[in-house]
Amino acid sequence: MKTPVPDYLLEIRDACSDGGEGRLADYIPELAAVDPDRFAVAACMIDGVVYTAGDADAEFTIQSMSKPFVYALALRDRGIEAVLEKVEVEPSGDAFNQISLNRGTGRPRNPMINIGAIATHTLVGPPGASEDERNTVIADGLSAFAGRRLEVDGAVCESELRTAFRNRAMANLVRAGGIIDGDPDEALRGYTRQCAYRVTVRDLAVMAVTLATGGVNPVTRERVVSAPVVRQVLAVMTTCGMYDAAGDWMSTVGIPAKSGVSGGILGALPGQVGLGVFSPRLDEHGHSVEGVRAFERLSRELELHLMNTTVTEVEAVRSVRFDEISGRRTFRLQGPMTFASAEQVLRRLAEIPEGPEEVTLDLSRVSSVNASARRMLLEAMRRLADDGHTVGLADPSRRLPEPDLGDGTRPVTRRAAR
Ligand code: GLU
Repeated sequence: MKTPVPDYLLEIRDACSDGGEGRLADYIPELAAVDPDRFAVAACMIDGVVYTAGDADAEFTIQSMSKPFVYALALRDRGIEAVLEKVEVEPSGDAFNQISLNRGTGRPRNPMINIGAIATHTLVGPPGASEDERNTVIADGLSAFAGRRLEVDGAVCESELRTAFRNRAMANLVRAGGIIDGDPDEALRGYTRQCAYRVTVRDLAVMAVTLATGGVNPVTRERVVSAPVVRQVLAVMTTCGMYDAAGDWMSTVGIPAKSGVSGGILGALPGQVGLGVFSPRLDEHGHSVEGVRAFERLSRELELHLMNTTVTEVEAVRSVRFDEISGRRTFRLQGPMTFASAEQVLRRLAEIPEGPEEVTLDLSRVSSVNASARRMLLEAMRRLADDGHTVGLADPSRRLPEPDLGDGTRPVTRRAAR
């Protein structure tokens, strides 16, 4: 059988690319020169498999889609607190090129609008990094997200710099307000350069899925940034990534996303998929008309909206067996252990009758245990031991660190039930 996923993406391309609506960004002269009818879409799954349709190898510049990734690099290099001292995380409700500063603090409203992105750019690399050093950190970082070496489109960069009057004004403003140190022209040059990296929709999908996995590029298997950094980036993409259309986008599409004036949109659905679409005609917000249409359709048809609530149907406790002869009670757990599933387990453990017996937790069918579930299960085991029970553990995949039941007592190691 041939998987129908590529055929489905072709269907999306055919259904969404017939419009001719919208217009090319022309404030950057080079961008006005592209073929307006190009259209491509790509999806990268969390195991690194990529599906594409349309002109999937055609390159275009990354533009504002660089912003979440450069924000991630700044968070990685300076830490979340230090970055928040310079750039806030409130949606501005303004267009991408508005001078949205908090009147009280003088800080840019968020890192997704230009003024915030220019300030964020200067926070990449160690404090005091030179322009070249910063450019290198960004080249390496964006390339790590994409899983291949990305190159700058010199012509687009030059073209934008020649007409970047507004962005230059913003660089000067944040310099005057003490938000950035150093030469504002250097910040403008670096920011414009970061926007001019050439990418394909495949790159967008891989970059997005590297956020969707929590920071590991599934194609190269490289950890690019930490999970807390990714969470912060996805949160800001969710609230601010689509500028003054962010609320509308979240209610109709519901995927953390970022657009660029070159006509690309990338979307990262945590734990599921990274998506990239390219079609250069833009709507009044500066988003690709056909790209928005494709995302709306993908979200609706594949049920990708982040707020779709899927209640886990698996019972966290698969079975409880009581062996009359040995007097052992075995709780076989299953599925991912989170706060909600661990709570189910704790509730069942709380029903164990008084009197010492052996209680074994069998984790052999548990697929993952997050930090809160880990604490809850360890605490339950300690309490069982406190109540005088003998605690057994079957954990062949070592989902739990070796539990200490108090005074260095360890649970009895048991084999997984079959
Ligand atoms: N380089 C563009 C600018 O600063 C990016 C804008 C965008 O893609 O939304 O104007």
